[in-house]
Amino acid sequence: MAKVRSETASAARGASRARGGGRRAGSAIKTTEGGWVGSTEQLYMVLQEAGDAITVVDVTGQLRYANKAAATAMGFEDPADAVSLPSEELLAHFELLDADGKPLLEEALPGRRAQREGSAPEGLVRFRIRATGEERWSLVRPAVVRAPGGQVQFVINSFHDVTALKETERRLTLLADAGSILGKSVDYQESLNELARMVVPQLADWCVVDLVEPESGLRRVAVAHEDASLVELAEEVQRRWPSNTEEGATGDVLKSGEPLLLPVITEEQLLTAARDEEHGRYLRALGLNSVAILPLTARGRVLGLLTLVRSDRSRAFGEEELPLLGELAARAGTAIDNSRLLHEATEAVRLRDDFLAIASHDMRTPLAAILGYLQLGLRRAKRVEEPGSEKLVEYLSAAESMAGRLTDLVADLMDVSLLRSGRPIALEMVELEVAPVLERVIDVHQKLARTHRFAFVHDAPVVVQADLRRFERVLDNLLSNAVKFSSAGGEVRVTLDEKGGMARITVRDQGLGIPTADLPELFTRFRRASNVAGVRGTGLGLAGSREIIRQMGGEIEVSSREGKGSSFVVTLPVTGG
Ligand code: ADP
Repeated sequence: MAKVRSETASAARGASRARGGGRRAGSAIKTTEGGWVGSTEQLYMVLQEAGDAITVVDVTGQLRYANKAAATAMGFEDPADAVSLPSEELLAHFELLDADGKPLLEEALPGRRAQREGSAPEGLVRFRIRATGEERWSLVRPAVVRAPGGQVQFVINSFHDVTALKETERRLTLLADAGSILGKSVDYQESLNELARMVVPQLADWCVVDLVEPESGLRRVAVAHEDASLVELAEEVQRRWPSNTEEGATGDVLKSGEPLLLPVITEEQLLTAARDEEHGRYLRALGLNSVAILPLTARGRVLGLLTLVRSDRSRAFGEEELPLLGELAARAGTAIDNSRLLHEATEAVRLRDDFLAIASHDMRTPLAAILGYLQLGLRRAKRVEEPGSEKLVEYLSAAESMAGRLTDLVADLMDVSLLRSGRPIALEMVELEVAPVLERVIDVHQKLARTHRFAFVHDAPVVVQADLRRFERVLDNLLSNAVKFSSAGGEVRVTLDEKGGMARITVRDQGLGIPTADLPELFTRFRRASNVAGVRGTGLGLAGSREIIRQMGGEIEVSSREGKGSSFVVTLPVTGG
């Protein structure tokens, strides 16, 4: 029989061929084995056993025929039971719904339209069997059978059950919606609230989210139900009888990290869960008939619980729903974890910035004193004419130069932390001629780095508005980098010119160069190129330099090729000559 059923389509084609060939015309269809299904009874049997549901309805709307699949879909064991019922009574067995879940009028059914209008397109019909609460989706194709006079006599409906397909679609949509809600905001409490509102009532009548708090047990962050007065009631219950995190269903899930389904909550279970009589009354009023408690986990830790409750006994949670519920909870858990990690990372960065700002600020005063004393000592030592005093001068000079560098580094650090925290740097802008400043800075570096040659190229004087101390620090940084990242004997060429109202200072070296991939992030704090691992540095200089130059209305840019040297160009608006 199964064979005959699965070959219905080809059998039908066989029938038409048979008719054309004149063999056993009008009553025969061919099977794959080459045999014949010839009798009306056998054709009836084929129809009865067909996988899709088939019904025949007459012009009065009365069901005249239903095959087995149709009877099963309508919730009857025997097709005869369905056919024997008057049409209104039969329809009363169902709640007809459209694709959006809104009530559907009988007249809108594809079969009814075909009956009225002579034809109708196929349509998706959703119906709930009232007796069991079971919901089904069918793609209904109506076809009319006309009397010899042309008037519609019967409508044949074939129903293709798409419930499983629709269920998959619903799950995917739910997960996609959950994903977009959870990914929208870094404020996970807000996201969890929105998630709870989204799953009610399509997935459950109640959705509650509790988070584990290190000190205080569970903290309720979301409660959703369509009825606001019930939400208030639930909040009152939680206030008066807070969930027990040690025992009971909640405690079990928190401990095991495994989901728990309580498909049907019996009166006995309710009484056991209730702390006293009044609590029991409240619990009953909440309509807790079927419960799913899902752990919100991430990286092996239970962060909280997602509790779903159905009040309608016919919609009890079943094991088959666990994959979807588990996936929903997993997404919520990951979102909570990500958002907490982000919060922790932001907080850590803020603490580091605060520390840098305070530390650099506090280091300035003692450093200034050290530098001052060193300069004083150096001046005195230079005046002493004793054997060995040159060595003392040499040591003190080295110490003074190092203290100077440290002072610059600390000042960089302070500027960078100030800028990071959004506080502006108080610039002391003055009008200055660029060439003498450059000469001075180059001179200092030439003395420090005798291994390198410095060249300075410039012609007409260029005047800019700048904070002298910070401008010097920027130049100082560029020159020390040029030396630091090129080998001995290399030339560092500094040019100064003016173009389009901007002073342009170029510092070019023939050193290591910078890998192209590192160029875009080179001015980011603590960022160093991948080819300088062995060379000391903090990755702060360029970041601070760019911020400072930008505050002064200019820009600093780099062009470089690995192995071919680098060019840093600083531009500043000129103020006239
Ligand atoms: P630091 O020099 O302390 O590492 P900077 O912020 O001054 O920090 O520079 C950041 C990075 O840019 C350096 O680590 C280096 O990779 C690259 N860089 C800067 N100047 C040069 C240069 N002249 N030649 C090659 N690489 C450079």
